Amino acid sequence: MAGSIIVIGAGVGGLAAGIYGRMNGFDTKIFEMNAVPGGQCCAWKRGGYTFDGCIHHLFGCAPGSRLYGLWQELGAMPRAMVQPEECTSVLAPDGRLFRDYYDLDRLRAHMTELAPGDAAAIDEYVRGCRAFVGADRLGEMMLGTGAGRARALVGMAARLKWLTPTMEKFGRRFKDLFLKRAVPQLVYSNPAAPLFVHLVRHGYGAAGSLQWPSGGTLPFALSIARRYKELGGEIAYSSRVERILTENGRAVGVRLADGGEHRADVVISDADGRKTIMDMLEGRFVDDGVRRACGEPPETTAWSVHVYLGVKRDLTGEPSAMIMLLDEPVEIAGHRCETLEMQIYGFDRTMAPAGKSVIKAELFSDYSYWKRLAGDRARYEEEKARAADRTIDVLERRWPGLRAQVETIDVPTQLTWERYMGGTHGFANMPAKKASLWSGLKGAGGDMTLPGLDRFYFVGVWASMSGSLFGNALSGRRAIQELCRRLKRPFIIT
Ligand SMILES: Cc1cc2nc3c(=O)[nH]c(=O)nc-3n(C[C@H](O)[C@H](O)[C@H](O)COP(=O)(O)OP(=O)(O)OC[C@H]3O[C@@H](n4cnc5c(N)ncnc54)[C@H](O)[C@@H]3O)c2cc1C
Repeated sequence: MAGSIIVIGAGVGGLAAGIYGRMNGFDTKIFEMNAVPGGQCCAWKRGGYTFDGCIHHLFGCAPGSRLYGLWQELGAMPRAMVQPEECTSVLAPDGRLFRDYYDLDRLRAHMTELAPGDAAAIDEYVRGCRAFVGADRLGEMMLGTGAGRARALVGMAARLKWLTPTMEKFGRRFKDLFLKRAVPQLVYSNPAAPLFVHLVRHGYGAAGSLQWPSGGTLPFALSIARRYKELGGEIAYSSRVERILTENGRAVGVRLADGGEHRADVVISDADGRKTIMDMLEGRFVDDGVRRACGEPPETTAWSVHVYLGVKRDLTGEPSAMIMLLDEPVEIAGHRCETLEMQIYGFDRTMAPAGKSVIKAELFSDYSYWKRLAGDRARYEEEKARAADRTIDVLERRWPGLRAQVETIDVPTQLTWERYMGGTHGFANMPAKKASLWSGLKGAGGDMTLPGLDRFYFVGVWASMSGSLFGNALSGRRAIQELCRRLKRPFIIT
């Protein structure tokens, strides 16, 4: 009988696998290469400022919802939360600011003030937002009963007309030139994103389900790790796994970078899929599908460079997130930027000393741009400094005098993420394949297993194909559920 589990990585997926593993009576040990848990769900201190690596929108903050229940099981809820007023905001070059308020009456009045001639498009937008408020359809799809899932599907089917247009296409409905340009940017500056994605997100926000954990990402991750330890789980930090040991087509343990070997009945990997398959398992358990999934990740991605600024300026009245539309493109980090997206943490006073604030600018960039520079440390550092410098130039347009108020700067790139959490091309770690809409809705777009390898599971991004905390937490739950099913044991939640 399988009684012990080794988990590689203490990201939310790995921690969740450990927690549900303990609930179901398995001996569990997580090997994490960093000194802290959380993986991408990370934050760090610089000179009194907290620089947060992760959360923009945390789904599952409305008590009573399925997703909230997931966070409760994992020890992350209840906790102190902050509810930003808007999903995001967009700043025009002339200084006009569009705040995408969750309060729909306020949103309508605000948009009408900005663009009085756009009543029809505003009406359509607000109607779309309203159509998605209230029901926890993602939670029902992923965690609900058969009846709940059926209700969620019917609810989604009734909203199919919102599924097809992209943000770009929907934005064309506005006559006002500012809103025409602003609306397509609302999903993390990605005009190709489906409108549906934005409306689901906005609907969750309006229902109070999208909030910010007070103190940010790290206390959130630490609370999940605490829950795991309270259940009797073990974590070994600063322990990098180099190989997954196999015998007769079964995973039987791991070898660490220090040469130590550890054995268990089941191995679960929360680490990057490509590295798990090609390095830790030396490419021995692949078929054509797996080989294709291990193909090159995208070269250009959003958020590939972050510019963190700790500033001696009070930004408490500013929106929580803002996309600046630029009148002329600016080259930053080797990329031609027509917009600049940022988070402004003034809404959470714990992120900076009194009277000071943190801004995080999120830049598009190419992986190979930084990889080329990495061979020459001085040039790499110089380019990071230049990216920060140009970013500050742009931010000066909103906050004149900001440059002189900057006290601390930090600029992680995709290479920083790779080094920190072992990803390929930064943090995304997605397999190179398309998830079907159906599996995407269930949060199970990727593969949990490998051909020819028994007693092995993936959790995290490779298994979920989801770039969300709840999707990856759920993958850990699923893996243990599947293990219990195989062992013909009931799946228990305590
Ligand atoms: C900038 C940014 C913003 C985000 N914003 C949001 C948001 O607003 N809302 C949201 O829901 N989600 C957001 N996400 C996504 C979310 O953070 C991730 O989807 C989630 O954290 C991924 O979890 P995971 O389980 O896949 O593991 P990961 O976080 O990828 O963790 C993997 C773990 O494995 C460890 N590891 C890797 N290799 C080894 C090895 N060889 N040996 C031992 N340990 C190893 C790593 O150190 C790491 O701890 C964001 C992510 C980023 C990067």
